[in-house]
Amino acid sequence: MEIYLDCNATTPVLKSAQQAAIDAMAAEFGNPSSVHSTGLRARSMLEEVREAARRVLGAPTGRVLFTSGATEGIHTAVLSALKSLRGSPANLLLYGATEHKAVPEALAHWNEILGLGLRMEAIPVGTDGKHDLRWLAEKAKHAALVCTMAANNETGVITDLHGIARALDGTSALWMVDSVQALGKLPLQLADLPIDYAPVSGHKLFAPKGVGVLYVRDGAPFTPMFTGGGQEGGQRSGTENMSGIAAFGAVLSALERGELVHTAPVLEGFRKDIVAALDEAFPDVVFNAPVDEGLPTTINFSVPGLSFRLLLDLFDSAGVRVSGGSACSASQAAPSHVLEAMGHPQWRAASAVRLSFAPNVDSQSISAACARIRACGAALRANCLAAKAGNAWVAPPELVTRFAVQGACCYLVADPASRRCVVIDPLPELTEQLANWFKCSFYTLVAILDTHTHGDHASSADSLRNAIPALQRDDSERDALGWPTGQEAIGLGRHRLERVPLPGHTKDSTGYKLYRDDSLVFTFVGDTVLPGSLGRSDFEQSAPASFAASIRKLASEAGLDALLLPGHDYDDRFACTLRAECGRQDLVADLLNGSADDEAFAVRKADLERSIAQTKYGTTSCGAFVRASCDAKRVELSRSEIEAIAATSEPIVLVDVREPFEQSLGLVPSLDLPARRQSAPLSTFVNALPQLLDRPQEHVVFYCRSGSRAAQAARALRDHGHQRAWSLEGGLARWSR
Ligand code: PLP
Repeated sequence: MEIYLDCNATTPVLKSAQQAAIDAMAAEFGNPSSVHSTGLRARSMLEEVREAARRVLGAPTGRVLFTSGATEGIHTAVLSALKSLRGSPANLLLYGATEHKAVPEALAHWNEILGLGLRMEAIPVGTDGKHDLRWLAEKAKHAALVCTMAANNETGVITDLHGIARALDGTSALWMVDSVQALGKLPLQLADLPIDYAPVSGHKLFAPKGVGVLYVRDGAPFTPMFTGGGQEGGQRSGTENMSGIAAFGAVLSALERGELVHTAPVLEGFRKDIVAALDEAFPDVVFNAPVDEGLPTTINFSVPGLSFRLLLDLFDSAGVRVSGGSACSASQAAPSHVLEAMGHPQWRAASAVRLSFAPNVDSQSISAACARIRACGAALRANCLAAKAGNAWVAPPELVTRFAVQGACCYLVADPASRRCVVIDPLPELTEQLANWFKCSFYTLVAILDTHTHGDHASSADSLRNAIPALQRDDSERDALGWPTGQEAIGLGRHRLERVPLPGHTKDSTGYKLYRDDSLVFTFVGDTVLPGSLGRSDFEQSAPASFAASIRKLASEAGLDALLLPGHDYDDRFACTLRAECGRQDLVADLLNGSADDEAFAVRKADLERSIAQTKYGTTSCGAFVRASCDAKRVELSRSEIEAIAATSEPIVLVDVREPFEQSLGLVPSLDLPARRQSAPLSTFVNALPQLLDRPQEHVVFYCRSGSRAAQAARALRDHGHQRAWSLEGGLARWSR
């Protein structure tokens, strides 16, 4: 069973609202502008819903218009306010720093379109998310419009509307209150305060998407957004969304009957239970807004060392739907502007999870949610991701685990038999996560190796070393890149690492060859060769004249088909080979087939580097150039396409690329296919590459939760020449439907 805890993003539609919508589409399908009986019945329904909205919003006077939702309401309010300003001395547009993006975007949009050139300023908030009322009172004297939401969608922080009213007292500023998250959850008496505009949205409270209401105070300026057929008394043309309005009406009626929202003590009790479950599951959890204040249905938290993506995948596998930051930005890994405005550190703003339950949730769902949250904590501990020292049995990791942070890669090389391991190219963002892993895994850290010294930042090797218990690390003498002095090789049970100097990207660039017994398994090449590019060599500490010899050395020592694991991997290709790079990069091909000598190579490479731009991550690109390879090709397979392949009896393997903690919580899809099953979590995917590449005749169908990680794996395998690599279209989410 799915437990839906993302109600600030949207809610399921109430049964009675579904029925009302169906009635409005079937028997009562009339156009409220028609003057015959069918139309008149529709009009009377429309007006009844409007009256209900007036009662619920506490707005017996003023305009109450039906809109398509809050974004339209916000735009109409902003347009109305700004259109009235010509000639006014007020020159400021003020909005809460934690407003939904629709508000500052609407302000900027109409400010520009109307050519007003007013200054926009964000009203600062404290760490509790509350507006700085003194600041506001000072600025409000010059404000044309002030926008402050009633309750915050990410944190549930409730605005002190009376305090704002006092701050605006005596000024001529117009005031908009985005009341979306307050509807049904807070007593709204809009007309009791000098609020000029208040938009709400149906889909945040059990009505369908595409319907909302805008309240406009009597006497507040108003300009219609749409003109046309004159509907809504000419205030909002366009035939009304009657099914949506009927459904919203059913919700408002249920709300008036007191059926939709538990009492405050009940909701606060639910919040307490969830907070306790989170505390138990993630002992380091931090709550990003005061937990005892605010909407009891909203909890916003971060867990040190755990990204919001990881937490989202974890909860989703356990059948608990939550979101990262706000839903509108959930697909981007951008830090939450709300938490940034509250002054929380970057890691909290970037890893925040929002959990929001429905105000009519039943206690069984809350108990089940708490049990699953505890199971999430246990699954992480079993994989050493949220560990207190020594409290869990630890599954042995695979030989190589790859961590990627904005295109930069760090590797953990661990030998389960000897429990010895090495970290290659540590990244500061991973220190906490890796330290946690050591504390519960009991592995010994033999070395932390850098593939080169970095021009733009210091290595985080020392901070990682210091974060690991002394008993678990080998502190023998080492050189600047972390290699133990006087040693030819680093032994890790059956495995060993050897060095190969590769000057070019930097003078000290070094590769590390990883052997199992006497076979080379992987070579860690840092920024010498990246998938689709070569490491740049135009830094002060570079050795451009040595680059060609380093590539030739790599070819002779590792071979053209050796799997090279790069220091940067901007397109998630996971590994490359010199043979594949010859196909993609003329420069490499010409060098290795002898048609370019070292000098020609250096000249051509310098030429390429003249135009290296910043990466899309805003960092300096470490690769000289990147050519898109097979990105354009479709790698997704639909269910019917997979079934068609199965019918031909061609071999298929279904590969689960979810992480072990997700696999342990999640459902295995009941794909009724004659297919082999395999697990290859993305973090350890490189280990599966040699074996998957060995079976080119097999169709490899990767799957994950949403399909995006599976598509990465499929593209990577194709990049290595496997023509039958696919991802399950829409991921498990669509398949299970
Ligand atoms: N304002 C707030 C506070 C919201 O939470 C949302 C939705 O996320 C909106 C505005 C936009 O609402 P709608 O989806 O109805 O346009």
